[in-house]
Amino acid sequence: MARILKTKTLINTKLATNYGGWMYCETCNENIGYLCYSTYDSLELKYKCNCGSRGEAFLDFEDSQTGHDCNDEMIIIKNRLCCPKDNEPLLTILDKKVASFDLKITCKSCTNIYHKVK
Ligand SMILES: [Zn+2]
Ligand SMILES: [Zn+2]
Repeated sequence: MARILKTKTLINTKLATNYGGWMYCETCNENIGYLCYSTYDSLELKYKCNCGSRGEAFLDFEDSQTGHDCNDEMIIIKNRLCCPKDNEPLLTILDKKVASFDLKITCKSCTNIYHKVK
């Protein structure tokens, strides 16, 4: 079922489809990660690509729940960062393609907000 976006702010960043799929640095066109379509409620990503460009992506939906901060770390299953509570796959950040990143993502299923920094 299609979801209705409330916020979509992409800076120096391209997304393969409306709110998911491969994420690309718009400066060098390298893919920097993959966002799962249906399992997140909101995304806040800031990163510095290896090419030196800084990119940002902010997305949430009309029906997004209010997230809850937690100190848990996401777990990795088959290259995807996943929610440790319900194993929902959330996204992949290609570590080797980005010099640094600051990520907050809310799991739609349990509304936990996961924070990860490199
Ligand atoms: Zn780049
Ligand atoms: Zn969850």
